[in-house]
Amino acid sequence: MLNENQLNEWDRYYSWHPFSQMKEYCDWPQLHVERGLGCWLWDTDGNRYLDTNASIWTNTLGHNHPALNAALTKQLKKIAHSTYLGLSHPVGATLGKELTKNAPDGLERCFFSDNGSNAVEIALKLSLQYWQLEGYYAKNRVIGMEGGYHGDTIGTMAVGDSGRFHNRFKDWFLDTWHFPAPKSAHPSLSTEESLETLVNYLKNKAEEVSCLIMEPFVQGAAGMQLQPPGFLKAIEQICHDFNIHLILDEVFVGFGRLGSLYACTSESVRPDFLCLAKGLSAGYLPLAATLIQSKVYEACLGNWSEGRTFFHGHTFGANPLGCAVAIENIKQLNSLIRSGTLKQTIEYFGKALENAFSKHLNVCQLRHYGLCAAIELCPSDATNSWAVEDRMGWKVCLEARNHELNLRPLGDCLLIAPPLVITHEEIDFMCAQITKTLKLVCK
Ligand code: PLP
Repeated sequence: MLNENQLNEWDRYYSWHPFSQMKEYCDWPQLHVERGLGCWLWDTDGNRYLDTNASIWTNTLGHNHPALNAALTKQLKKIAHSTYLGLSHPVGATLGKELTKNAPDGLERCFFSDNGSNAVEIALKLSLQYWQLEGYYAKNRVIGMEGGYHGDTIGTMAVGDSGRFHNRFKDWFLDTWHFPAPKSAHPSLSTEESLETLVNYLKNKAEEVSCLIMEPFVQGAAGMQLQPPGFLKAIEQICHDFNIHLILDEVFVGFGRLGSLYACTSESVRPDFLCLAKGLSAGYLPLAATLIQSKVYEACLGNWSEGRTFFHGHTFGANPLGCAVAIENIKQLNSLIRSGTLKQTIEYFGKALENAFSKHLNVCQLRHYGLCAAIELCPSDATNSWAVEDRMGWKVCLEARNHELNLRPLGDCLLIAPPLVITHEEIDFMCAQITKTLKLVCK
């Protein structure tokens, strides 16, 4: 049995953690998650933590779920991996059918990969390829939305707008223009102004634009920035009017996070591409899918020598273990949604957060939608903000570990996105423990 000190040492000396300043990380107490059950994680010392960010927004039905485990082990006894390049397998074919059957009309093809960034890259490349194949050679620009986050590969960094994370790489970026996000990103900018700016740009440039990409309803990594009702529907209409593809990145908001399997169905929006990952495989295994309109698929058909083939693939795309879990996940999610349980959880979550934090002295803004929330922290006198180097967001999260919470900040903002099966009691517990933590850390 490995002891804690040994693990700490190996982790400090040999690991490099994502989105982490390792100098800081190595000075902070480490936490080694060893097991999970439901919405809870346990570390190697036997301490438990409520997983308030669903292990980076992936977990849907809770950790160690009996039906998901059974689906996984059943598949494991058959085969762990077989390629999707030129071969198929039963769980891949079944999952492709399930994903498209539940999707908006016309999204009839499913291209599998293994993470959210790749799901987006595939949509971008296919959009560009489609317009070339159709003879629209000038259509090679992309429109993104201010504050968007679509991943950390070169293509997804370009279409996203996470300046602080990605600016140093901008010389390598695709030609992208970002339209202003409505409201929350610009307190003074109305929805109409945001849409008008987009329309004015397209009036001059539509012939050079291939696609518009955005995260519908909630920009997660920007700090749960929300869009008003009807905004997505208006964007769909604009894309249609100007003959550009609409790519919806539902890597975060899909699979029940906002209450339905696919978020765009709540406004009856039909994108040309729908990017899925994270909750697709319930937080069990790396799996992603890009759902694609049939017209794009058909444009890529032809004899080999015509050069219409989509030359793209990832070694572990459509991994059978991930597909087997995803099939069971969709079945369980559909019943969670149909039974009304998820809706009740979402309502309770919103009310509990409002009660606990809307008037809290250390909370300058609370945003929530579906099962995600952002709690913006500030000093209680609210006349100043904390200095960046104070790392108050992280201080709160580190202290929260002493109160049985696994929390993650974005600057001085707490981002909450628990597993969809969180109970009312667990929501109350989370709010009480955050309140306790704020009292100790923020004063
Ligand atoms: N798109 C969105 C909306 C995301 O939130 C993320 C990750 O947080 C990604 C894409 C990238 O996914 P991955 O980290 O699996 O590459």
